[in-house]
Amino acid sequence: MSNRTFTMIKPDATANGHTGAILQMINAAGFRIVAMKMTHLSADKAGAFYAVHKERPFYGELVEFMSRGPITAAILEKENAVEDFRKLIGATNPANADAGTIRKLYATSLGENAVHGSDSNENAAIEGDFFFSKLEQF
Ligand code: GDP
Repeated sequence: MSNRTFTMIKPDATANGHTGAILQMINAAGFRIVAMKMTHLSADKAGAFYAVHKERPFYGELVEFMSRGPITAAILEKENAVEDFRKLIGATNPANADAGTIRKLYATSLGENAVHGSDSNENAAIEGDFFFSKLEQF
């Protein structure tokens, strides 16, 4: 699983019509989409996905935001996927993101930052399994 990562195109980028452009950047950077779906998380589901942040002051805002509208979830495959995808998306706060990164181009704020990218191989596998059965992972 070390060549796979998990991403979501978050509700802000979805509502702003950036899904196609972001998927294009993902493909152009050499990632192969091996699972993908558009869905709308309930507050319960969003809360469970971000349970690791439960004690953080922004948890409530994050759950509200992530359950506000549809998202696109996907599993991506590429050599060194986790690290390379974090480089492609840029820093959590778009103000600190490098030029040309997805967050620099499409995020609006620290909270509403357009895309998610797994931070480790272990979390990539857990997060992919959160959204996709084994039969849906190609
Ligand atoms: P990531 O790994 O770059 O996504 O960043 P983190 O794991 O630190 O945070 C998870 C997500 O929580 C971020 O992508 C943001 O959407 C959100 N987030 C992080 N910090 C803040 C904050 O200070 N305020 C709000 N509202 N949301 C935040």
